[in-house]
Amino acid sequence: MSAAGREALVALARRMNVTGLNQGTSGNLSERVEGGFLLTPSGLDYDTLAPEDIVFMREDGTWEGRREPSSEWRIHRDVYATRPEVGGVFHAHSMFSTSLACLRRPIPGFHYMVTRAGGVDIRCADYATFGSEELSRHVLRALEGRRACLMANHGMLAVGESLSSAFKLAVEVETLAAMYWRALQVGEPVLLDEAELFRVLEKWKTYGQTEKPPKHEE
Ligand code: 13P
Ligand code: ZN
Repeated sequence: MSAAGREALVALARRMNVTGLNQGTSGNLSERVEGGFLLTPSGLDYDTLAPEDIVFMREDGTWEGRREPSSEWRIHRDVYATRPEVGGVFHAHSMFSTSLACLRRPIPGFHYMVTRAGGVDIRCADYATFGSEELSRHVLRALEGRRACLMANHGMLAVGESLSSAFKLAVEVETLAAMYWRALQVGEPVLLDEAELFRVLEKWKTYGQTEKPPKHEE
């Protein structure tokens, strides 16, 4: 299995802790590869994680490696099985997303960037014990038509075409959660209406640097 893929996964796992998205051994991440996906091991300190500690898991849940896979392997496996466009999955217990998730509060359309997760809000998945099949089902439901969700009394999860895009989205979700949290301290944030949120969702399709034909000078 690709050594570069393992190195990249370890580097991202370390970055996750440096950026403050996680602490301790919380959270787990994975990237789709030929025949399955690479996944962080269970309960290992990210600082001392070596590329050889990364687990290769096949689509049927069987795995290879010197370490036990993350206890949340079912979520990772089930996301890859049901979302063919997904290439990376990122799960963390980040401060503000998790605080909101403990209140079982989704993030509504209080800011237009909420649509970055794919819809008009960021849902909160129902609670179930960590590592359970039931938790995987709840997460999959909360992710319908979305690329991120909160997880009740637990944390947050983001997916993307690649692990690095899932990571960027997780940073965005955590920023939104922090903004929403702060706004709630002062009052009830004004929500954007659905028509506006759908307009923004359309706008993302042409946002940023689109491919233009090179300028032709005579
Ligand atoms: P693992 O160390 O088994 O990945 O568990 C961490 C976690 O966040 C469980 O939800
Ligand atoms: Zn967790």
